[in-house]
Amino acid sequence: MFHARDFVVTERVDYFGAGANVLFGLYLAGVRIGRLSAGDAAAVDGFRGQKRKSTLLRLWTLLCLGLYVAHVSFLSFVRWDYTYNMAANIVVGAVGNVLWIVYSVGRYHRKSGNDKGWMLWPVWIVLWVIAAMSLEVLEFVPWRLMVDAHSLWHLGTVGPTVWWYW
Ligand SMILES: [Zn+2]
Repeated sequence: MFHARDFVVTERVDYFGAGANVLFGLYLAGVRIGRLSAGDAAAVDGFRGQKRKSTLLRLWTLLCLGLYVAHVSFLSFVRWDYTYNMAANIVVGAVGNVLWIVYSVGRYHRKSGNDKGWMLWPVWIVLWVIAAMSLEVLEFVPWRLMVDAHSLWHLGTVGPTVWWYW
């Protein structure tokens, strides 16, 4: 319904919001996996390590913010390019997905015991998102002119979002 009544402003908000969401996912993966947050760094690395981690966190934050500003600037001032936007989101999303899979599988294998299935949750969530995203890439003729691949993609993102914050 939202896309059935698209204006220039809703299209921009959609693209920029999606880009921010995907890039923020990568940013958080870096912060979590690199244990860059202040609490994590203090617990794992001690005072000296904590200082190094806070510098890394600042650099990582600046890099991601810079990438986002460059992305939005390109789309706004150089060219409104559907193919570039899709490719940028897929590449950034894929890097985040690979990080989560490598991290989760690695932790799963290092941990002993039976109660560790939850450590693979990020892998299942990533696979779910990839399956849903295939709808975004592989189009089909809308069912009854209403239900198209893109609407099913939106529907498919509800589950992993809820699971992620479980
Ligand atoms: Zn949409």
